[in-house]
Amino acid sequence: MIDTKKRIVVLLGPPGAGKGTQAEFIKERFHIPHISTGEILREHIDKGTPLGIEADKFMHKGDLVPDDLVFDMLKERVQHKDCTHGALFDGFPRNVDQAEMFFQMDYVSSNAKVSAILIDIPDDEVIKRLSNRRYCPNCKSIYNLIHKVPQKKAGTAFLCDNCGTELEIRDDDKVETIKNRLNVFHNAAGPLIDYFIRKNVLHKVNGMISLEEVSRQIAKILE
Ligand SMILES: [Zn+2]
Repeated sequence: MIDTKKRIVVLLGPPGAGKGTQAEFIKERFHIPHISTGEILREHIDKGTPLGIEADKFMHKGDLVPDDLVFDMLKERVQHKDCTHGALFDGFPRNVDQAEMFFQMDYVSSNAKVSAILIDIPDDEVIKRLSNRRYCPNCKSIYNLIHKVPQKKAGTAFLCDNCGTELEIRDDDKVETIKNRLNVFHNAAGPLIDYFIRKNVLHKVNGMISLEEVSRQIAKILE
């Protein structure tokens, strides 16, 4: 059976939930592009399109680009041929206002299967996953003291398997920063998740299982 429906996927989840990995999986498995509003914005600005010039004025002043402008760019982007069978959004819509505008787009409201997938993991697991990350300031390799443990140590410090440099914790992966990021996530995601529940499109996937199993469950939801 050929499903001619468009698949529109919104991926939700806290930092460290594995959204990037699952976005890659969804892209490959369902042949839909991963659309990033940040990338679209940069493209318009680089190319100097009328929308880009308009957006640049706001960014120049250090202001947020208004939603109307972002949506104008988005509406243009989904006209491209690669979006015929749908599109994947990660980190967008960011709030309920944007979600309302999102559902009002012809592209989303007409003959599309919309799925908002929440990869759900508890805060303490997020903290555990991220605070155990180490990175090499020299060759940029990423390690994790739980499941990708570097082989060599000098005293208490871990060394890069590749180049022997002492590994560091990125600012983003410090416990205090992680807690802040989680707060930001919960404040924004709470109302958004409620909105998606009311729209009947929310699917929760348990993020505590293996990456492969999360992918399998996502595939089942989207098929
Ligand atoms: Zn290294």
